[in-house]
Amino acid sequence: MDTFDFAPEKAGTFLLVRRGLPLTVCVATLLLALIEPSGRGWYLLASVGCLAEVWPTFKRGKEYLHGRHYLVRRDGLWVRAFRPIARWLDREEAWILSFCAWNNQRVRAAFESRRARKALVLLPHCIQLASCKADVVKGLEHCFSCGKCSVGDVLAGVLAGKWNCRVSNRSHKAYREAREYQPDLIVAVACTDRLLKGLLKLPEVPSYVIPLQLPHGMCVDTTFHVPHLEAVMANLVESKVEPDERIQPLRIETGA
Ligand code: SF4
Repeated sequence: MDTFDFAPEKAGTFLLVRRGLPLTVCVATLLLALIEPSGRGWYLLASVGCLAEVWPTFKRGKEYLHGRHYLVRRDGLWVRAFRPIARWLDREEAWILSFCAWNNQRVRAAFESRRARKALVLLPHCIQLASCKADVVKGLEHCFSCGKCSVGDVLAGVLAGKWNCRVSNRSHKAYREAREYQPDLIVAVACTDRLLKGLLKLPEVPSYVIPLQLPHGMCVDTTFHVPHLEAVMANLVESKVEPDERIQPLRIETGA
């Protein structure tokens, strides 16, 4: 799969606020500097400050990766500042997803020309069927590959030696594992709130995020768009040639 067309992501709302607001204030203060000579210095200072706030949003590729820690922290301030307004407008989830989409755009731009060599896929435990006893938190190889949940779909990529994948039942464990593994790219699947927390907790590691779908509510038998993950891995991560023969499913075609 060569494109991400199947997963339209809308970063427009976040960008409209993140760039639009400071640029508007910049233009307003420049106009004030022209018509109000008495406070000209202050107005010019304010307009320069606004430009400085917008400038980091144009960083791309290597420059973006180099400054990612600061850039994500900065964007995070905007997400948090406008989150109450988004909640009040009943658009909180859309607001966070818009930030996630903006993050993904920049990560894609950074890795499309220079693919990641050490990627780590982080999955939440709730994608496993609630009634399944397979200990997939210990390792994906414990999945029976029965096809009843998304874990089995992901297992195929792991068995083919293409993906390094962890299933976590606690966010802090996932962060710890990610720090220990020191990946150059994280691909994380989680609910909207956890995606935001993860991005802000590990701003130093480039992270591509995929939102969960919650057909049965929070934390129970959740799903996600596996082709989205496959496309990310195919487009942004260097493929390993040799399958990992250490990892094998316990049984094939066995009921959970
Ligand atoms: S055994 Fe089946 S239900 Fe259990 S994790 Fe694997 S695919 Fe999901």
